[in-house]
Amino acid sequence: MTEVQQQIEIQPLKPAVQPVNLLGLDRAAMEDFFTGIGEKKFRATQLMKWIHQQGVVDFQQMNNLSKDLRTQLAEHACIKNLEVAKDQLSIDGTRKWLLRLPDGNHIEAVFIPEDDRGTLCVSSQVGCALDCSFCSTGRQGFNRNLSTAEIISQVWLAAHLLEEEKKPGRKITNVVMMGMGEPLLNFDNTVQAVRIMMDDFAYGLSKRRVTVSTAGVVPAMDRLGDVIDMRLAVSLHATNDALRNELVPVNKKYPLKELMAACRRFINKQNTRSRITFEYVMLEGVNDRPEHARELIKLLKGIPTLMNLIPFNPFEGSGYRAPSRNAVSRFSDILHKAGMTTVVRKTRGDDIDAACGQLAGKIEDKSRRHRRFAEPRFGMEQ
Ligand code: SAH
Repeated sequence: MTEVQQQIEIQPLKPAVQPVNLLGLDRAAMEDFFTGIGEKKFRATQLMKWIHQQGVVDFQQMNNLSKDLRTQLAEHACIKNLEVAKDQLSIDGTRKWLLRLPDGNHIEAVFIPEDDRGTLCVSSQVGCALDCSFCSTGRQGFNRNLSTAEIISQVWLAAHLLEEEKKPGRKITNVVMMGMGEPLLNFDNTVQAVRIMMDDFAYGLSKRRVTVSTAGVVPAMDRLGDVIDMRLAVSLHATNDALRNELVPVNKKYPLKELMAACRRFINKQNTRSRITFEYVMLEGVNDRPEHARELIKLLKGIPTLMNLIPFNPFEGSGYRAPSRNAVSRFSDILHKAGMTTVVRKTRGDDIDAACGQLAGKIEDKSRRHRRFAEPRFGMEQ
């Protein structure tokens, strides 16, 4: 036996390629997959219905597929969800899942029920690289992007675990990509995931019910506007560059003037995009004064706006405080009077740390940022 033959003989038999996780394929990718294994394109919609609408992850149960095809699928593909590490229900009905990734990191997803809707808040990355000074996810540092399958798995798991509750009003009607991470720094996987959320053969959410939130990655906002139509939310938080540089450091790269221009371009790309949601975390004594409200009106002039005021959700060692109720109502009154549609976001799921900026997961930080935070940087009083 030659050396080469010997090597061939002792190598274990491995499939030529890793099985594809069908959970992360949008319609076009699913069609490619099926044509790639010599099947008809329409199989794509059949599979999507089984996975996302019926919640079936075992090929053998897909009884409108031939036995041969089921066997073939089991060979080339898989449908693999994340593992639920923790499942918490708040007294206000908010439900939060801590999900374990195959590499040992953890992310979080949150379901927030309201009278007229059920919103799922989804993570896009393991941690976040943007380092916003008031956000506890940012404190954790950054590890990696989530794959499309890992983003969609949050929707799949939430949809099916909520269905098991068998209670009215526990259905996902809206998805916001406002969990851990900056979705626009995980562009392709985010876009593909949004396509699956909106596909009639999957979750069928309308473009008004899917929101991608960004801290202001300007070039990616432009690309997003070119490839997909959904709602955009922009985390603004400050009305001048000096303060925004401090709160949202990506502002040093893409300052307010550029960000506002990108918002205008986004709005103009399609007339169905009626307005942009702006998020504004209110921090006591930092950005919650009447003059800030007036600056905000000036800054957003001409941009159709839905203003979301988010009273700061404190976390240990943040160095910031929540604004007084008075400050919030004074601020929102000024915006209202100027004709700006303004909503004060209620804190939900506080008892289970599910509120904005409290999602932390458990991640292995590759940016070593959390070490930096081990030393106080804001002259904390607590
Ligand atoms: N990176 C994206 C997606 C995350 S969205 C973005 O920045 O838009 C999460 C939202 O919660 C953002 O608007 C963020 O600024 C806000 N947030 C973060 N920490 C918060 C906190 N401690 N209290 C209230 N809101 C917070």
